Amino acid sequence: MSTFSDFNFAGHKALVRVDFNVPLDDQFNITDDTRMSATIPTIKKILADGGSAILMSHFGRPKDGPTDKYSLKHLVKHLHELLNPDGGNTTKVFFADDCIGEQANLTASTLRAGEVLLLENLRFYKEEEKGDKDFAEKLSKLGDVYVNDAFGTAHRAHASTAVIAQFFAADKKMFGLLMESEVKSAEKVLHESEKPFTAIIGGAKVSDKILIIENLLQRATDIIIGGGMAYTFLKARGGKIGGSLCEDDRLQTAIDILEKAKQKNVSIHLPEDSIIADKFAADANTKDCPSDQIPDGWMGLDIGPKAIGIFSEVIRNSKTILWNGPMGVFEMEKFQGGTKAIALSVADATSKGAFSLVGGGDSVSAVNQFHLADKVSYVSTGGGAMLEYFEGKVLPGIAAIKE
Ligand code: AMP
Repeated sequence: MSTFSDFNFAGHKALVRVDFNVPLDDQFNITDDTRMSATIPTIKKILADGGSAILMSHFGRPKDGPTDKYSLKHLVKHLHELLNPDGGNTTKVFFADDCIGEQANLTASTLRAGEVLLLENLRFYKEEEKGDKDFAEKLSKLGDVYVNDAFGTAHRAHASTAVIAQFFAADKKMFGLLMESEVKSAEKVLHESEKPFTAIIGGAKVSDKILIIENLLQRATDIIIGGGMAYTFLKARGGKIGGSLCEDDRLQTAIDILEKAKQKNVSIHLPEDSIIADKFAADANTKDCPSDQIPDGWMGLDIGPKAIGIFSEVIRNSKTILWNGPMGVFEMEKFQGGTKAIALSVADATSKGAFSLVGGGDSVSAVNQFHLADKVSYVSTGGGAMLEYFEGKVLPGIAAIKE
């Protein structure tokens, strides 16, 4: 395995797996270009060295082959703008309306140093998601160096994310800058965490987070549990939770987790109090209430002020922080106080030297919404991939490069 920063791309055609799976509105305008802009430094380094970049990505979930809706051609204009911020045409961007075949081969082979080629959606071939070896080999012929910069799909053993790596020698396959920083940050939290290490886990369902909690029980000193999933734990401990979210079939799981934590000397922190509401609505009546004494007809939709105080204290004393999942229904203003306060505490701990990683869709949206993304150490772009990493799984996209 080579290191991207040390590799000189002069004269090379780099085949770069990117994650350009950005959201579009119905006029094909990009509504959030984070995934595209995050990989621009990787592309620029290749071009600055005197190489050319052939970009391949999936886009949406096309079911029956090529369709206009899922064509990557809609992104070419914006890619050109990102690579030519001065409005010029110094960096030429070409598009091949197939990711393999004659046109892709011809355009790739005639691509010159400093030029970029974007290939059509990989998922127009079902072979991509099947991890088909022949398809991966065809793709591999388009470049002479393979760069994986798509952390968001690193948990998939697809043709372009993992299988393809076997067609490149060890010194011709590497992570791109984005993937490298994702992997480094995740490894730092999981394997080199300075103690106290606090994991903040929130969101709706216990069932989605069991594996991550179990893995973190081996490593963290403190686990803060907030959001809807906290109520299953509170009920399992004998509390009254009214109409709060609860997975009754996970009560035993919750008890087992609490028991294991005790054995391992990991402190699990549940919210002392909650902001409860008389309906799941932005205009609900609300009040503060002990989380284990919620009356019938009311539901906990955010952590309360006492919980905020206790959680914040734990966070401020931490040296490593992992945050996945909001503390309440932060999409509604009345129930975003807990998530915002926790985001501020994470930012505060970071300013005092803690390493903090925010990963997973909704906590990432929360730190962005509260303009705190630059106040934490790392915000991951890979939701599902980051979650699987912290569940302790081997991600095929990482393993394929490291092997
Ligand atoms: P997840 O995708 O599992 O991380 O869950 C995120 C979702 O959980 C967000 O849409 C939140 O609105 C929701 N959520 C957080 N806290 C609660 C709660 N107390 N009751 C219901 N939903 C919640």
